[in-house]
Amino acid sequence: MVGKSGSPKVEGEKALSGLHEETTVRKRNQEASAHQTSDQTSRQALESGNGSVKKNWSIEDSEELYRITGWGEPYFSINAAGHVTVSPLGDRGGSLDLYELVNALKLRNLDLPLLIRFSDILEDRIERLNAAFAKAIARYNYDGVYRGVFPVKCNQQRHLIEALVKFGKPYQFGLEAGSKPELMIALASLKTPGALLICNGYKDREYIEMAILAQQLGKIPIIVLEQIEEVSLVIEAGRKLGIRPIVGVRAKLSSKGIGRWGTSAGDRAKFGLTIPEILETVEQLRAADLLDSLQLLHYHIGSQISSIAVIKDAIREASQIYVELAKLGANMKYMDVGGGLGVDYDGSKTNFYASKNYNIQNYANDIVAEVKEACAERNLAVPTLISESGRAIASHQSVLVFNVLGTSDAPSSPPEPLQEKEHLIIRNLYETYESISEENYQEAYHDATQFKEEAISLFNFGYVSLPERARAERLYWACCEKILGIVRQQEYVPDDLEDLEKIMASIYYVNLSVFQSAPDSWAIDQLFPIMPIHRLDEEPTKRATLADLTCDSDGKIDQFIDLRDVKHVLELHPLVEHHPYYLGMFLNGAYQEIMGNLHNLFGDTNAVHITLTPKGYQIDHVVKGDTMTEVLGYVQYNSEDLVESIRQQTEQAMQDRRISLQDSQLLLQNYERSLSRYTYLTS
Ligand SMILES: *Cc1c(COP(=O)(O)O)cnc(C)c1O
Repeated sequence: MVGKSGSPKVEGEKALSGLHEETTVRKRNQEASAHQTSDQTSRQALESGNGSVKKNWSIEDSEELYRITGWGEPYFSINAAGHVTVSPLGDRGGSLDLYELVNALKLRNLDLPLLIRFSDILEDRIERLNAAFAKAIARYNYDGVYRGVFPVKCNQQRHLIEALVKFGKPYQFGLEAGSKPELMIALASLKTPGALLICNGYKDREYIEMAILAQQLGKIPIIVLEQIEEVSLVIEAGRKLGIRPIVGVRAKLSSKGIGRWGTSAGDRAKFGLTIPEILETVEQLRAADLLDSLQLLHYHIGSQISSIAVIKDAIREASQIYVELAKLGANMKYMDVGGGLGVDYDGSKTNFYASKNYNIQNYANDIVAEVKEACAERNLAVPTLISESGRAIASHQSVLVFNVLGTSDAPSSPPEPLQEKEHLIIRNLYETYESISEENYQEAYHDATQFKEEAISLFNFGYVSLPERARAERLYWACCEKILGIVRQQEYVPDDLEDLEKIMASIYYVNLSVFQSAPDSWAIDQLFPIMPIHRLDEEPTKRATLADLTCDSDGKIDQFIDLRDVKHVLELHPLVEHHPYYLGMFLNGAYQEIMGNLHNLFGDTNAVHITLTPKGYQIDHVVKGDTMTEVLGYVQYNSEDLVESIRQQTEQAMQDRRISLQDSQLLLQNYERSLSRYTYLTS
């Protein structure tokens, strides 16, 4: 949950145990202090030059401000030109300039907003996860293997699933289906010998039959029983087909996740079997002579688990259930720990909901060690380990780039001098403005607010004219601006002044629908790193919130990542006329695309798949975003009928001499042309 602003995120770096992490943290500290000294020197130089402190902005300042090292390593960084660069292979390969890439794509008629997927990042994520488990398995002498699966629900796009299966082949990486349509994707896409196909979600007879029959195609489908009713369905289907199914049980653990998805576990969770139900399942299977079909234990305590302590609790409880099931005679072979492996969206390495206080290696180590110990105590062979990591695999590979269409600033000009005979309320506001100082700024803020409210009541009663009210409002803004200047210099900001930054923030209008491209930002206040992808060698002097294209007041972004909690404004650059300004939203490759909706009928954005080549990059696939015709089709409008309706109306208007032939043709041409166009604004 969002804590009190300014309170530090707990459990911080002390929870890191990987050697690699420790060195990077230390390295960063060194860099930070080196950077500070050079900073101080340049500041002193400037100060001695002329009185005003105008710090020379460097890309290191941008790095620190947008925390790109924290959330972006090793894929995203800033180059000397002040542009974001992408290094899809992490530290092992080349990099490309994101700003240049966007410009090159625009020349190919790929308009913004544009979703860019970096296939190499996907490959790197799969490698990292598998390498972490391989390392943990070696470290603990674990006598078993890891066979991860990707949960299709996390990103079902065909090109992504195809790439994932391809990159996962060396690791026999499989797929997890959570519904019948996802099972159909998984059955058709997964052909890797030895890879697992985990079948979760609600199941009917057709689902179960397809899953069992997939064994005959050489696949390894494991049907995970999540509802007690499914047990008899599976027994019957197996009997009818004459095939022994491979089944698992999903346990409702009593260990609970925390944060946004915390309710996925616990006794009242939507999915899974309680312990009494698991025992009943064992008995039903035993009675049907299918107890050796029961081979897997699964649990899923929620997504984005930010605390390693929660992960440990869950695996400990599950390991005990696993060994008990083996003791009851089940043919246990697999332990499936579900999803939950987190992504550090704010780069703080804490148990804050937008972060996680562990790395992939810590995660793998804890799972391997815990399972091994539980099995060793009972002299049991260790299981094949499965994780259904979606977010951790798919988040990093896509970046959404969008442009700013315009801005609206809080009015801020120094007030005109006081005239004789101005209204008392205006004199009060003016005097407040004049008196603002470091000593009284908090009091002055309350005075200014009160006077402005009084001015509005006086206006409502007819004692203040419209021009007077305008003058009062301008004076109020001027007070806020002056006070904010002082507040920004303070180490500690009093609670009552915290909103000031928000009140005075500019609004940047962005070519984007939050509902389509970042639904979790709107629905559950999820944070994604957002930053300009160029001009990063220039100081961002504006503080802004983002407003999207929809005419819904929820279509905005006013929470941004920060080292402590969240911040309500984002530092951005002033727009320069005739120069586009591009922002990137990062780490949004998991869940966002499919949960997006057509609010205000903004459709899918353009998407491209990029791979690095020795000479630069290549565009593997272009998936054009929705056109107006497509989006209108979803809500059952036929574009020919629509054009016909407009044509008839123009005919009528011409007969009534309300429109000229020329204008009617212009209207029709625009209408028809728009139907085949992108739903977003094009330049
Ligand atoms: C959503 C889900 C996952 C994926 O979780 P992540 O946290 O994205 O890795 C895995 N398993 C099940 C059963 C899920 O419902």
